[in-house]
Formats: sequence, structure tokens, C-alpha cells
Amino acid sequence: MRDLLGLSPLDVARAVRDVAPEPFRAAQVLKWIYERRAADFAEMTNLPKAMREALAKDFVIGLPNVVSRTPTSDGTEKFLFELSDGARVEAVYIVESKKAPSWTDPETPGASRVTICLSSQAGCAVDCVFCVTGRMGAGRNLTAGEIVGQYLAIARAKSFGPHEANVVFMGMGEPLLNVANVVRALDLLDEEVSPKRVTVSTAGVVPGIEALAGRPRRPNLAVSLSGADDATRTKLMPINRTYPLAELFAALKRWPLERGRRITFEYVLIAGVNDTLAAAAKLAALVRPLPSKVNLIPLNESKEWLPGLKRPSDAVVNAFAKAVADDGVPVTVRRSKGLQADAACGQLKGREEPARPKGPRAP
Ligand code: SAH
Ligand code: SF4
Repeated sequence: MRDLLGLSPLDVARAVRDVAPEPFRAAQVLKWIYERRAADFAEMTNLPKAMREALAKDFVIGLPNVVSRTPTSDGTEKFLFELSDGARVEAVYIVESKKAPSWTDPETPGASRVTICLSSQAGCAVDCVFCVTGRMGAGRNLTAGEIVGQYLAIARAKSFGPHEANVVFMGMGEPLLNVANVVRALDLLDEEVSPKRVTVSTAGVVPGIEALAGRPRRPNLAVSLSGADDATRTKLMPINRTYPLAELFAALKRWPLERGRRITFEYVLIAGVNDTLAAAAKLAALVRPLPSKVNLIPLNESKEWLPGLKRPSDAVVNAFAKAVADDGVPVTVRRSKGLQADAACGQLKGREEPARPKGPRAP
């Protein structure tokens, strides 16, 4: 059985040639898979029945199995998927109401939209101190089919159509350590989500940033900083040893930004670690030379996985945000509370029940 999901249009045409010889058949199949979110050839009603049956004998549309869905009161819903080898990943369906400021699309503040947060790896080797995915350890790269599969399975479950959602790579894994498959997935979704509506969030993998920079149709870039000097950042994000701030910012200066666009800098605020006004001033000074905006993420706590790490009080978060804004850098605060926090950044585990953590680790 061959999986059609993840194959390029040309490869789909080649694959189905014997069963569906007319050239337009491959385009029909692709339309069913991507636009109409078909999970089965039987759904492809404009194909002759015999052809549907012949396709089903040789091929599958390898959408990931939905193990569980965790809806929250605000419309956000976490999906736990199982992949063909048993690996598990999570993705999140997010609706932002008209009134709420839109952190996934600050270019058009106040717009109501759906955002799909996708995973790129089944774990993460980068091992940031504040991230549950990182605490769980490394996991394999997802294939392009597994990446688009998360999107299509959610689109099917939530019944939204093409061009109705933004995509952010802020789920499990470091997308720029799997850049080839992320790029393939973006190409496959090209008719579905324009690159302007896609944001790739990276811990600062310089070669990956450079690879994306060379592409004619680029997604938006978000860079997770969480420290505005090398000492603080290395303590929180060990990848800073490999790509220290000077090297990272040299690459970001070369990033070809379209007019009116900005690079997003994500900064996870952790009480007593990186939340002082001096840190805010350092952050603003670091990012101000570039067209940038800052997205502050008060830590999503986990007693079990991130013992000892606390979210600062709202007063501290607000003072930090004000200091960054006063220094001339646009800033938004991403708040997730209660149930929603369990489906939020850094909280995706790829399993329903937590296993034994690797043990506490101080920043
Ligand atoms: N690996 C990529 C994308 C996935 S993480 C990256 O690091 O950018 C997505 C975002 O979640 C990052 O900005 C990361 O800093 C943030 N994050 C991780 N753990 C978090 C936590 N416990 N609370 C809040 N944000 C967290
Ligand atoms: Fe990996 Fe991003 Fe988590 Fe760091 S924050 S461990 S890079 S998923």
C-alpha cells in the first residue's frame, strides 16, 4: 500500500497512472485530498466506482489517526495523533475571537481567525529548560505527509475550507531541524494556505534560517529568544552555544523581509529568571535595529515537567511589556489560562498521561 499523502503532484500522477490513466484523474484525486479533505477513495464520487476500488487496493491517504481530542471552553482544541509507526504528536486548533488581539496575525489586529499549530518533530532535541516537549527528549523528524496530515485531519474534523486558516509551526519540535520536510509540506499546502499566512517558529537554527531565506515564497519568521544576552539565553536554550546571538542576528539581518513585515521575537517570561526591567531594555535594544515585534509568553507552568519554574505575576508581565513598548518595539502578550494552557506552547507532549519526567533541572 502506498501513501499518496506527502507525494508531489507529479509523483501522484506517476503513481496512479496505471489505475487512472487519463491525465486529469490525478488532479481530481489531489483536489479530493487537499481541498475536500477526503480520507478515503470511496468519497471521490466523480471518479468511476471501479477506479475508486482499484485505487483503494494499491493506495492509502495516510491521515494520522486521531487518538484524542481535548476541546477547551474558548474553542481551542488539542488533537493527539498517532502516526503509522506508533509515534505520537499533538497539534492545536485555535480560534481567536474578533475582540481579542491576534498574536498569530498581528499584521491585522482584531481579525477573527482560525490558526492551526502544527508539530514538525515527534519530540525535540533542543531541550530548552522551560519546554515540556524538550524535557521529553528528542523524537524523529516528521515526513511532509505527516505534517500536512495534521492540518488536513483537523480541517476535516473542524470543517473549515481552503484559505480559512493560518498555520504556525509552534507545536512539537524544531521546524528548522527538519527544514526539508517542512518546506515540502508548505509546497503541498501552497494552494491551501499562502506563505503569508504561515509562521515558522525557530529556536534560532542559523542554517535553517538561511535555507528558508533562499526560497522565493517564504513563510513569516518567528524566533524564540527568551534571553537577550548570551549568558541568560544559553542557560535557558542550550542551542545558543551553537548559534550565539551575534551569529543569529547576523543571519536575521540577511533575512529578506517583505515590505511591511516584521520578524517576531518570542520571549517566554519566567519569574526571577528573565523578567526584570533591565532584561526588557536589553531585549528592546537587541531587536530594535530590525523590523521586529516582540511576543511575550508568560510561562505555561507544569509542576510535573518544569518544577521550580514560575510564571511572573501579571503586574511584572505588564511592566515588562510596557518597558519594551516604551523603547519603541511593538509588543503583544500571549496569555493562555486554565485548560487552554494545557494545549499551549511548550506543553505538547504527544501523550495523554505524562510518563516519568527526566527529573528537575534548574535554569
Ligand atoms: N521549536 C520551536 C517551535 C516550537 S516551541 C521554537 O522553539 O521556537 C513554540 C514556542 O513555545 C516557542 O516560542 C517557545 O519558546 C515557547 N515555549 C516553550 N515552552 C514554553 C512554556 N512552558 N511556556 C510558554 N511558552 C513556551
Ligand atoms: Fe524544542 Fe522549541 Fe521546545 Fe526548545 S522550545 S525544546 S526548540 S520545541
